[in-house]
Amino acid sequence: MTEGQIWQKMLQRRVFTIGTLMSDIPPAIKPYVREKIKSLIAGQMKLGLVRQVSINPPVFATKEATEEDIDRFRRVCPICGTKFFPSQITQEFCSKECKQQHYLRYHRRRREKAGMKVNSRKRWTKEEEQKLIQLKQLGYTYEEIAQRLGRTTFAVIEKYKALKGVRK
Ligand SMILES: [Zn+2]
Repeated sequence: MTEGQIWQKMLQRRVFTIGTLMSDIPPAIKPYVREKIKSLIAGQMKLGLVRQVSINPPVFATKEATEEDIDRFRRVCPICGTKFFPSQITQEFCSKECKQQHYLRYHRRRREKAGMKVNSRKRWTKEEEQKLIQLKQLGYTYEEIAQRLGRTTFAVIEKYKALKGVRK
């Protein structure tokens, strides 16, 4: 990647970080390209063609960039609602804390789902078995019985077959 190509990218994007400029650069040459970008930014800043609009993370804008362009570069954190400048194109959250919060929530939801599956495999009590036979005799469908007992339809059918087998 030549300096000319990097400068073209900067002019197209108007607002950028070193990370967002390098989003499509293969990892093997990233360190090399990063150094080139850094020296180009330093050079263009001296000429007044690029300015730094944020310190943390370092965000830069070309002379042509408007306040609107800069604002459009910001993102809204889905966890806390803060507006922030992403340092990478893939950055979704404003901070490590919000990213962690997101994964905690995600894993909690997964654990809850897993927990429901465990509950459905819970042993049947004598009362539940009696209730199943009673409801079936009253003409309820397996689906309706499953809803009442808080079990899957499949589990109710299997249980009913097993109970009938035992009675024979
Ligand atoms: Zn946040």
